[in-house]
Amino acid sequence: MSRYRESACRLCRRENLKLYLKGDRCYSDKCAFDRRSYPPGQHGQRRGGKTSDYGLQLREKQKAKRSYGLSEKQFKLTFQRADRKKGITGTNLLVMLEQRLDNVVFRLGFANSRPQARQLVSHNHFLVNGKKVNIPSYQIKVGDVVEVHEKSREIKAITEAQEAVVRRSMPQWLDLEKDKMKGTVRGIPVREDITMPIQESQIVELYSR
Ligand code: SF4
Repeated sequence: MSRYRESACRLCRRENLKLYLKGDRCYSDKCAFDRRSYPPGQHGQRRGGKTSDYGLQLREKQKAKRSYGLSEKQFKLTFQRADRKKGITGTNLLVMLEQRLDNVVFRLGFANSRPQARQLVSHNHFLVNGKKVNIPSYQIKVGDVVEVHEKSREIKAITEAQEAVVRRSMPQWLDLEKDKMKGTVRGIPVREDITMPIQESQIVELYSR
């Protein structure tokens, strides 16, 4: 599968939003977005003017896709699944993105960023309900218990992330037992739990073209 391999910070600058893709660095004075909050590239500082409807819709899609670290194809597939569900498609989409195992690992503070969470999940460091799951897109359900594998509890990336989690607030739909390195899914996230400034209706418009 193709992966974006250039600087993650370019993505934040392009989206005009901190996407928190680099863990500790995002909270330090080295954050590229805090230093240069204009689009990357030779003409970044000169860009401006009116953006078309399509441009606005595209930016909202890119923002969501890049925040959760999905490829174009994965994002479209998630949208199609969200569209087939009952309810509001845009909300379904964001909730499904939030329910990904890599996002839950990040939210529980077992990783400093979603890209790191994705890597840790695919390297078999987590159990869901006692069974190894190494699929970052795995959709968690109410009552699921996500825990760090016993053999992985000393891994530096995980212990460091746990120390740093105080910087972020724990979503109310998750329960963390920090000493046991596990978390329980108390409920399905609702739209209000997703605080990232994404206008999901624009994404729906984009895919309805
Ligand atoms: Fe984005 Fe983090 Fe880079 Fe800042 S340090 S620009 S928040 S990825």
